[in-house]
Amino acid sequence: NPTIVWLRRDLRLADQAAFVAALAQGGPVIPVYVLDDETPRHRRMGGASRWWLHHSLASLAASLEAIGSRLILRRGRCEAVLAQLAHETGARTVHALHHYEPWWRMAERAVGKGLDLRLHHGNFLLPPGTLANGSGQPYRIYTPFWRASLLHLPPPPPVPAPGHLPAPATWPVSEHLDDCGLLPTAPDWAGGMREEWTPGEPGGRARLETFAGRARRYGEERNLPAREGTSRLSPHLHFGEISPATVWHAVGGAGGSVDVFLSELGWRDYAQNLILQAPDYGTRNGRAAFDAMAWREAPAELAAWQQGRTGYPIVDAGMRQLWHTGWMHNRVRMIAASFLVKHLLIDWRAGEQWFWDTLVDADYGANATNWQWVAGSGLDANMFVRIMAPLVQSPKFDAAAYIRQWVPELAHLPDGEIHDPSGLARPRGYPARIVEHAAARARALAAHGAMKEGE
Ligand code: FAD
Repeated sequence: NPTIVWLRRDLRLADQAAFVAALAQGGPVIPVYVLDDETPRHRRMGGASRWWLHHSLASLAASLEAIGSRLILRRGRCEAVLAQLAHETGARTVHALHHYEPWWRMAERAVGKGLDLRLHHGNFLLPPGTLANGSGQPYRIYTPFWRASLLHLPPPPPVPAPGHLPAPATWPVSEHLDDCGLLPTAPDWAGGMREEWTPGEPGGRARLETFAGRARRYGEERNLPAREGTSRLSPHLHFGEISPATVWHAVGGAGGSVDVFLSELGWRDYAQNLILQAPDYGTRNGRAAFDAMAWREAPAELAAWQQGRTGYPIVDAGMRQLWHTGWMHNRVRMIAASFLVKHLLIDWRAGEQWFWDTLVDADYGANATNWQWVAGSGLDANMFVRIMAPLVQSPKFDAAAYIRQWVPELAHLPDGEIHDPSGLARPRGYPARIVEHAAARARALAAHGAMKEGE
């Protein structure tokens, strides 16, 4: 009998335990992707993610064809589609990798009721949910979590991609990727993404190779948005086009700067551990006191933030980079997120939603974990009172060239003036600040103080 490999956000051939297990069964292998917008509580993928998914699926289909196989594409609820496919092909076993978003765990339970679903580990450095602290509880704070993780690392070396996948005598029908509606129609907002990214496993591998050569400089350069100091592997990792073990072994072992990089990779695992503890982490405060926070309803200010028109150049540069390329530098994500939550006192969930729709690396666990970390509302420490000053951060991290790239209205200004054009005759087309730092800071601290008093 053939075996089904159910692909989700693990769109690769190398170091893919589901393929390894399916091959070990000896029969034909049927790789399938189910585009499921129907499962209850399934968070519909955002627009930028859908663009990425389209190209990643096209790339995977080509790689499968090169080894004598195909990618079967179906739409509908996972359990119904897989049951139907099993019925058509006579398959009984489904191999897949574990995923930890609440909707995937729900779908796994539903699929497992009718079929022999075998789940494998492989999208994280360690299987989420396996580490416990001295009192047997899962970790809530990153540092002890990572320290405990390191005792079980490095991960096993990656398994190479199969050279051939046995095909069934007849292939089940597949939908056409172009009919799945994953790409933007009018307007086509994906031009900047096409320039920046090559979705798919070969694109991820190329990024990794380029980065491995400069991983030693990561420690010095990772906070400088004007440099290409970070790996830009996040969308490839999110869609599982490259495994974290592959990344680890490609850069690993050098100590120093590379350890800093690996510890960032650890944040990715950490986020999965938090959504296992709090499946609704993307919508619900980890710290219940924040339910009483007096967030402001300010749709015009939210729109100014989304469009990169706040009058704070570093924030605006970040938000425009996000809109154009589907990605934003981590340092600037922190500044922009802090600005929304503290300077504008807008609920972090509005920011989480915007990132969910616009990031090519939008990831339920990582996005919720980082937004709640910035807001102070999370399961870890409350950092709300640490309010970043955008006008201090911008020169500190040498963002002049970055601003020049993303905010053309300011491009003519010299380095010394570009971070804060407010004292100059306002450059044409560039907005005035929507809020003043000192007043905004005081307002945020007062709101937080009032919330704490009510605790
Ligand atoms: P590198 O610095 O090269 O790091 C390597 C890899 O480690 C990344 O590709 C990523 O997989 C992982 N990583 C690094 N930092 C973090 C982190 N803080 N949390 C989780 N994983 C991390 N990252 C996402 O992948 N998806 C998101 O939806 C997301 N939302 C975020 C929202 C906010 C408000 C903030 C402040 C950060 C968010 N991040 C998110 C984390 C981080 O900004 C990105 O992972 C990073 O910028 C990706 O760029 P890179 O691949 O060059 O990272």
